[in-house]
Amino acid sequence: MDTGMLSFTFLGTGAPPVSARRAGPAHLVEAAGQLVLVDCGSRVAHQLAEAGKPAAAIDALIVTHLHSDHIVDFYQLVISSWHQGRDRPWRVIAPEPALKAMKAQYAAFDDERRLRIAFEKRPSARGLEVVFEVLEPGPLSGFGDLSVNAFLVDHHPVAPAFGLAFASDASRLVFSGDTRPCAALEEAASGADLLVCEVYVDSQMPIVSGVRSAETVAAVRSYHMVPSEIARLANLSGAKAVALTHVVPPSADTQAVLAEIRAAGYPGPVMVGEDLATLVLPARMLRWRGLAASF
Ligand SMILES: [Zn+2]
Ligand SMILES: [Zn+2]
Repeated sequence: MDTGMLSFTFLGTGAPPVSARRAGPAHLVEAAGQLVLVDCGSRVAHQLAEAGKPAAAIDALIVTHLHSDHIVDFYQLVISSWHQGRDRPWRVIAPEPALKAMKAQYAAFDDERRLRIAFEKRPSARGLEVVFEVLEPGPLSGFGDLSVNAFLVDHHPVAPAFGLAFASDASRLVFSGDTRPCAALEEAASGADLLVCEVYVDSQMPIVSGVRSAETVAAVRSYHMVPSEIARLANLSGAKAVALTHVVPPSADTQAVLAEIRAAGYPGPVMVGEDLATLVLPARMLRWRGLAASF
């Protein structure tokens, strides 16, 4: 990829609900020679392979918070990267509660891993090693000319939960993580070239007996971003473009989502992400399957 570009790939635009269209939360940032994976939801290793970015090549994994949909395929990611010839340890940066769960996931397979290493006799077992680091608010080091900043968002009762800001050359991209509206996100997104924001489409979440009650819808809605809140954030922040992900429900009518955002008063560029779509800055190009478009 060309120097000076910052590219963002939606690997999984879904959430916990199972969907053939939307894999679990995972996104890939590529800039300044760094390949950074954000979250490792269900099917992440397959999506990376589909995107032509093998897990073996990833420089770091950053996890935003402890919710199972964001970490559930961690071990599969590690193993599949080893099978692709990974020969250096994983760098994993996550908030303490997520680290605890990921370490437990890794430890659950200690015996299995020992057997594999002994039996498969691959050239190196280094790719199976993991260096865990605690994610704290502020700038992250070790990303060369890619600047990575973590900021606290509000996903209470899940805490800490982080959003991330990536900057390379003149391009700045802000990723909301999972959050309700909060001042920190507004501030981080201020003037961003691209704001990637989660969305919870409450208008398309009917009450279903035995599945979700009115209380469920209200509770889940309360720690996510509904379209009108995204419109408000987009206007307040002055972000130059907005892309949505973590789409709940995954089957949401995307045109209706955009219509809601328009109706709430945001007139700027906005799109709903799809798995394996890539956005490129500063060119503001969208690539998805055979499609290339500007935004
Ligand atoms: Zn989530
Ligand atoms: Zn969450």
